[in-house]
Amino acid sequence: MKLLFERSRPGRGMDLLPPCDVPAVSFDAALLRDSAPRLPEIAEVDLGRHYTELAKQTHGVNDGFYPLGSCTMKYNPRVDEETASLPGFTQIHPLQPLDTVQGCLEVLWKSEQLLTEITGMDAVTYQPAAGAHGEYTGLLLIRCYHQSRGDTARTKIIVPDSAHGTNPASATMAGFKVVSVPSNEMGGVDLDALRAAVGPDTAGLMLTNPNTVGLFDPNILEITQIIHDAGGLCYYDGANLNAIMGHVRPGDMGFDCVHVNLHKTFATPHGGGGPGSGPVGCKDFLAPFLPSPRVKKAGDSYEFFDPEQSMGKVRSFYGNFLVVVKALTYILSLGKEGIPAASAGAVLNANYLMKKLAGHYDMSFNTLCMHEFVMTLEKLAHDTGVTAMDVAKRLLDFGMHPPTMYFPLIVHEALMVEPTETESPETLDEAAEVFLKILEEAKSDPESLHHAPHDCAIGRPDEVTAARNPILRYDFGA
Ligand SMILES: *Cc1c(COP(=O)(O)O)cnc(C)c1O
Repeated sequence: MKLLFERSRPGRGMDLLPPCDVPAVSFDAALLRDSAPRLPEIAEVDLGRHYTELAKQTHGVNDGFYPLGSCTMKYNPRVDEETASLPGFTQIHPLQPLDTVQGCLEVLWKSEQLLTEITGMDAVTYQPAAGAHGEYTGLLLIRCYHQSRGDTARTKIIVPDSAHGTNPASATMAGFKVVSVPSNEMGGVDLDALRAAVGPDTAGLMLTNPNTVGLFDPNILEITQIIHDAGGLCYYDGANLNAIMGHVRPGDMGFDCVHVNLHKTFATPHGGGGPGSGPVGCKDFLAPFLPSPRVKKAGDSYEFFDPEQSMGKVRSFYGNFLVVVKALTYILSLGKEGIPAASAGAVLNANYLMKKLAGHYDMSFNTLCMHEFVMTLEKLAHDTGVTAMDVAKRLLDFGMHPPTMYFPLIVHEALMVEPTETESPETLDEAAEVFLKILEEAKSDPESLHHAPHDCAIGRPDEVTAARNPILRYDFGA
């Protein structure tokens, strides 16, 4: 399809700017660019068509089933978008006088109260822009804590081998050395290996529970105790909160700090690289180190304050504020009953679909799952040559987004399925039928599956080249 630059014609466009109603300011010539930027000139209708065409070439939650494991691609209610587009939230400046943005501060404060309740923490920062950024911030909290006590020998973070790739990456970014501990045969943490791994150099542990194979680790209290006994702190990767919210709290499992992906669990659309938010919650003893500023209530009004031993800033201003508005709307609209009902629905849907596929596809663990389950197509690949990638690509022909592929790394030929709570039994039944049909095809015509998808705008892009050598600039010269 044509790019905006290719659709551009000199002089075309839309005049949306009102006449200037403030005195004109002239800048020093040294500050001005030599020539005007070469922006596309295009009529509004053509611009609209361009983006509609782009949207048609991809698959979103509004197009169909999107069981992308680990990502919680649930439906985001429209009401959350509506509140986030109110002018009182969108038409403000981050440096506006506080008495003119009291409502916005109240949003941050109220959201903090609700998130601390849901996670079992005492304080929250909204600065981190995503989950991985939250992990980094949480690890800095752990580092600040040990440093404040003069405990400089604690340089290692323990991470289970099933962890999301961001965990070891964030730990490394935060200046720690990563120690990997193996999983046991149930996909949980191997307690003996954990005991052997801790010591006076242990700064902490990073763990998600339910873990990346969709199982709740029944030893969680013992795990966090082992770390605490060794003098370390426990960080909870809250990306899987959609499985447990309203039922169990990371704070009650023994964790000291946690991040939450508002763009997974709390109603912000994602997958297209839009703004996310990874607020970090912590227990009281870590709160003095949180990024500044934070919001507090003083009488009837709200104000900012800097925590005493703040790590500084991890991002400009107050984080992705409108994402917080959506999360607050979502939590308030679901309410105290709706939040646990949502996670119960997510777990029920995952078990329903898993049960329909078990016996046909091999499950990596034959037990009840939480909000997602992992299949291993190792035997299918061995018997027919059809891989997890082939099955994933074929699903696209049926209007389904593929599950997450080849993750977690501890499962071979993995497909990780997360239906989420917003899917109906009919959708899940249809999805199961498609999975079983593809299994038939794998046995009768494996060759054709290697070339799937057959009906999509793009089939099998060279992902490595796309990631390593992305074309991000328009070449006017060509
Ligand atoms: C998504 C995810 C993350 C990272 O979150 P981002 O918002 O993508 O940075 C971390 N851990 C787990 C388990 C996840 O699923």
